Amino acid sequence: MRKKIVAGNWKMNKNYNDACSLISGIIDELRKSTISKEQQIILAPPFPFLQVAVSRTEEIEYISVAAQNCHSEEKGAFTGEVSAQMIRSTGTEYVIIGHSERRNIFKESNEFLSKKIDIVMKNGLFPIFCCGELLPEREKGNHFAVVKNQLDESLFHLSEKEIGNVIIAYEPVWAIGTGVNATSEQAQEMHAYIRKLISEKYNQQIADRSVLLYGGSCNAKNAKELFANPDVDGGLIGGASLITQDFVTIVNSF
Ligand code: PEP
Repeated sequence: MRKKIVAGNWKMNKNYNDACSLISGIIDELRKSTISKEQQIILAPPFPFLQVAVSRTEEIEYISVAAQNCHSEEKGAFTGEVSAQMIRSTGTEYVIIGHSERRNIFKESNEFLSKKIDIVMKNGLFPIFCCGELLPEREKGNHFAVVKNQLDESLFHLSEKEIGNVIIAYEPVWAIGTGVNATSEQAQEMHAYIRKLISEKYNQQIADRSVLLYGGSCNAKNAKELFANPDVDGGLIGGASLITQDFVTIVNSF
């Protein structure tokens, strides 16, 4: 059975004390919930709070920690950047790669993201690879081609063993932070398409095992309907991951 994952991307929010309170609140609320063996909850705080997130959750098997980004090089003169190896050394297990804000604000290309994927794998981290189309791309009916190209250019050079360690998050850019989520049908249609691409490039067994998350204005109200789709294995949550009760409700939406 595939893992069911809810990951919270905190983006550039919270100070140290707020981050500690959010972590503690989530831990306390999840302890009151029934978390199945297949479920994984991933917290992706900003870099300065990775260490505290790891130390407070390391005893809890179903909670893991992710970084929101990393640099493409191993080390060196890249002032202000953070390497995969540094992230791994904090005990962090996952890294979000290719979030639309990295692609659009920081102009990260598919080729650059491919290098990041490689350095993440090399350092024993699991990538959460984000893909998704812009609104004009969907309006022109190009959304499938855009997502295929993102996967082809950044991910599909990986070996069968490596691709099995990647979580893919489909995040239509027009849905991120807008309050307008993809419909349940739109999410399912794209997830089924991504799974088909994986089966064509690799094989059906790998496709069936791949964890595909939906992201984009997923919240406490719509998570249940989105997660009920056969190819939606959970969510990558932005805004709603900053509010303990909302995030926990989303976790409990399977
Ligand atoms: C995100 O940033 O990955 C995201 C899905 O944001 P939101 O849930 O706020 O739309």
